[in-house]
Amino acid sequence: MEKTLHLIDHPLVRHKLTLCRQRETPPHEFRGLVEQITGLLLYEAMRDLPLSQNDIITPVAASQEQILAGPVPVFVVVLRAGLGMLEGVLRLFPEARAGHIGLYRDSETLEPVQYYCKLPESISGHPCYLLEPMLATGGSAVLALNLLKEAGLGGMKLLSLIASPEGIETISRHHPDVAIYLASLDKGLNEKGYIVPGLGDAGDRLYGTC
Ligand code: URA
Repeated sequence: MEKTLHLIDHPLVRHKLTLCRQRETPPHEFRGLVEQITGLLLYEAMRDLPLSQNDIITPVAASQEQILAGPVPVFVVVLRAGLGMLEGVLRLFPEARAGHIGLYRDSETLEPVQYYCKLPESISGHPCYLLEPMLATGGSAVLALNLLKEAGLGGMKLLSLIASPEGIETISRHHPDVAIYLASLDKGLNEKGYIVPGLGDAGDRLYGTC
């Protein structure tokens, strides 16, 4: 687990996540905070992107400088809460491509059920980031990663705001090759499957449906 779990324990991330957790934070502020935290997670997750040397001319001198090389990233979100993580990363990478996976959690078994999957075509070899804000049981992320692997993707990274220890354990057991970038590892789950202390239902907090 140690090799694949990257806990982004940065004061800025911690501060913004605390604001997200507070129940009085309204949806418009919550959305902004989720975007900002996701950008900070992505900053860490993209450290290994390849660069190429390019000849450029500044107003002062000719120089050799680096720009990103390689195929554009693919961001895949798990509906609906993952949408809150997508806006910010698409602003950072307007040319990126995006996929959507629709899963709901069966309220009795707590198991994820797929109802939608639309991924961009010909994305094998592109860096792929799965955006799933809450890793509770880990079941949704495992299923989403299965779908991405079936679509021929490899080297995925999973970006998430908050996880439970059991969620991380499940994902690492099924997908030991997937690196997880996480803002907080919380205590555990309650009897309803919510992360404790968590932030509640991320979709409801994003869109004011609670
Ligand atoms: N999904 C959420 O949005 N919140 C939780 O605490 C668990 C799953």
